[in-house]
Amino acid sequence: MKRRDLLKTAALLGSLSLAPKGLAQGAPQNAPALGRRYRNLIVFVYDGFSWEDYAIAQAYARRRLGRTLHLERLLARYPSGLINTYSLTSYVTESSAAGNAFSCGVKTVNGGLAVHADGTPLKPFFAAAKEAGKAVGLVTTTTVTHATPASFVISNKDRNAENEIAEQYLAFGAEVYLGGGDRFFNPERRPDKKDLYGAFQKAGYGVARTLEELRASNASRLLGVFSDSHVPYEVDRRFQGVKVPSLKEMVQAALPRLASYRNGFVLQVEAGRIDHANHLNDPAATLWDVLAADEALELLTAFVDQHPDTLLILVSDHATGVGALYGAGRSYLESSAGIDLLEGQKASFEHMQRVLGNNPDAAQVKEAFRAMKGVSLTDEEAQMVVEALTKKVYRPDGVRYGIQPANTMSWAMVQRNASKPDRPNIGWSSGQHTASPVIALLYGQGLRFLQLGLMDNTHIFRLMGEALGIRYQNPVMSEEEALEILKTRPVGMRHPADVWA
Ligand SMILES: [Zn+2]
Repeated sequence: MKRRDLLKTAALLGSLSLAPKGLAQGAPQNAPALGRRYRNLIVFVYDGFSWEDYAIAQAYARRRLGRTLHLERLLARYPSGLINTYSLTSYVTESSAAGNAFSCGVKTVNGGLAVHADGTPLKPFFAAAKEAGKAVGLVTTTTVTHATPASFVISNKDRNAENEIAEQYLAFGAEVYLGGGDRFFNPERRPDKKDLYGAFQKAGYGVARTLEELRASNASRLLGVFSDSHVPYEVDRRFQGVKVPSLKEMVQAALPRLASYRNGFVLQVEAGRIDHANHLNDPAATLWDVLAADEALELLTAFVDQHPDTLLILVSDHATGVGALYGAGRSYLESSAGIDLLEGQKASFEHMQRVLGNNPDAAQVKEAFRAMKGVSLTDEEAQMVVEALTKKVYRPDGVRYGIQPANTMSWAMVQRNASKPDRPNIGWSSGQHTASPVIALLYGQGLRFLQLGLMDNTHIFRLMGEALGIRYQNPVMSEEEALEILKTRPVGMRHPADVWA
């Protein structure tokens, strides 16, 4: 073994010791190097995206749209691998600890942004890139102040402190912020009545709050906030006439602005609501947000083709819910029917809840499922949904389904007849995040023969650093230290339902 490899192995074993108990001797992982530099960096995070989501979207694209996913074509030709996702103190991570691993290169506890459990701030990668003269952009379908984008630019011990994070964004001064979260910027909605829109304008930003304003803006620095909370699901934008920009349209607005900066840029794009749809166990919302991400991905790779000094890193931060298409019928011959039945699903549970309100009757529920999910509920199933919406009686029983009433709405339309499927044969493990390894993929010049293999999620930080020639080390905390701190000061996750809401 070469000396360089020995050192690499030593570093790798060091990072493995940070794994939650019982994994210290874990599987060997790769620490691949790019072997070259880039001027621009794009990190595309598919939040809560599992291989089961990939499989369903891939099959839907082939069977119903008559094409392959752009992601499928990239997987076939470019370096891809897996990342382990566990946080410092849990095999099941959430988005801020996963975001910290990417942006800070160290494991943290769940719940804080670029910060250790004792409050020690970490330097997020985009902050270092900004110091090195790079323009910075954040584009997401969640609130723009949400965990995954925020963990790349600022530190905060509470990922849910989004009012404060909006102010931290103003101080940070990225060139482009696009996403949802009006209530964190609007003086009429903020508890402290501060006018963040006005403050951003004063600081030289153009502010866009609709698709039209986004298209019309010629501001070089841009804040775009397109919804009260998260940007509505793609399935509702596409089929229910909800008027917001698509992820692709937001990326389209971000790229030329960032590309106009002389020293290059860093951009995080997040398909943030794949995670939410999976929490809700909503097959159509998941599918269409994956397809929307795929359209944005195609645009991003076209940009890389025209700007070969750009590296694109695509990662998921963890899997969520894991709605899997399962085998149905004799010799599994009925399995693919589930894909075709998804075509009749034209709205998210989120949208259906808005339409149904808090006090629907069984007939209204039946009509909503027929029109928007293509499913004929039985009287009993419709009553299950009525009770969930009106009396907060939820199904199925058990702690793993915590995102209500949506998990009950999903449960009401599960497949009942395996031999003659009239509903999608998609089964969910839970309404929560899960522990499985997830996708990592690189796209850029000079990478075709790179092997990624199985990496730790913290290695994304090292790849970004190598790409831009920005190297530093954040302080490391051990699991024992973190657990000791958490005993006396329980920071971190709230109720699972609050994690994404
Ligand atoms: Zn996440």
